Amino acid sequence: GIQTSGSNIKAIEGSSVHQITSGQVVIDLQTAVKELVENSLDAGATNIEVRFKDYGLKSIEVVDNGTGIAPEDYDSIALKHHTSKLTSFEDLTTVTTFGFRGEALSSLCALSDSLTVTTATAQQSPMGTVIEMAPSGTIKSRSGKVARQRGTTICVSGLFTPLAVRRKEFERNAKREFGKALNLLSAYALVPCTHENKGVRLQVSNQPNGGRKTVQLKTDGSTSINASVTALWGPKSLENVVDLDLQFLVDMDRTVARRLKDSGEGDTEVKVKGLISSFAVGCGRTGTDRQFFFINGRPCSPSRVQKAFNEVYRSFNTNQSPFIVANFILPTNACDINVSPDKRTIFLHSENNLIQALKVICHPSHSQLPS
Ligand code: ADP
Ligand code: MG
Repeated sequence: GIQTSGSNIKAIEGSSVHQITSGQVVIDLQTAVKELVENSLDAGATNIEVRFKDYGLKSIEVVDNGTGIAPEDYDSIALKHHTSKLTSFEDLTTVTTFGFRGEALSSLCALSDSLTVTTATAQQSPMGTVIEMAPSGTIKSRSGKVARQRGTTICVSGLFTPLAVRRKEFERNAKREFGKALNLLSAYALVPCTHENKGVRLQVSNQPNGGRKTVQLKTDGSTSINASVTALWGPKSLENVVDLDLQFLVDMDRTVARRLKDSGEGDTEVKVKGLISSFAVGCGRTGTDRQFFFINGRPCSPSRVQKAFNEVYRSFNTNQSPFIVANFILPTNACDINVSPDKRTIFLHSENNLIQALKVICHPSHSQLPS
């Protein structure tokens, strides 16, 4: 690959590029905004504001107070497979950042009318630069100094306009797509609770065409799960909810066991932390829209794990679905995050064993879950 010397955003080595799951990273509104928020979190932001204009049809803007981007990196910001987070395939097993493929901004440039980056590093603050990207991901124009505190703002206008059919579909389903994006943003709003060391203030607003801007979702920067759940859904949402705090051993299949041993980690202990509706009372929900799963703090949709939870719950309470926030903490070698382009699918080694253990531990006769 091409390496720009002295810069932080580098091309992933040629051979490694092939080992990274490629494909369409940005397929809808929720994946677009997810990628931007992930970048802000990766940049260490403690304050993130997401502004939708006309449910995202007009623009999506993500403003953060993260590290900012250094001038020597401007050229590589939106080039495909350029990232500051990963340079070789070996890094993938230990990657702790949300991003690692260097594809999101490149895709967003190609899939929108315009993408602009306003950024300032600590050194430059309170002055920054506005960079307008071309669809190819190269720089179209670069401003002189503008006022900007440390951080980065990315504004994407006219998402999917270059793809007429996709754009039409987006226009037709804008409100539903917006709802899905808000739900995914709620999951990201809970990420700081899974790390417990650093709070992030997240605010999401929408301004309908010709209407007033309204705040859709807001957290207060707390790492407490109760405080965050209250901020997101109100104090009532904590009624009849109990702490989820499980710990158990899972038999990993042999390859993983060997790998874990080689890496010195040795144990296959799984912890599950979070919240769940009490079995006895439930919370009157029939859908599964308030079920949030994380693996080592990464929002994901482990459908079989989710199904297992719901099955156990229904054996106590047949007519309701629980509210669930569950973070699975397991050795990083026991899962693979490089499965789907959007990173929502995480491959769990020995998933069957894990699900089995989960069912046993949650079963009435062996319940660690208070009713
Ligand atoms: P990836 O996240 O996989 O590295 P992206 O295309 O999402 O790829 O971003 C490309 C690069 O641009 C990142 O590696 C990072 O260096 C920089 N970047 C993007 N967004 C931000 C941000 N909000 N703050 C700081 N740097 C950013
Ligand atoms: Mg990214």
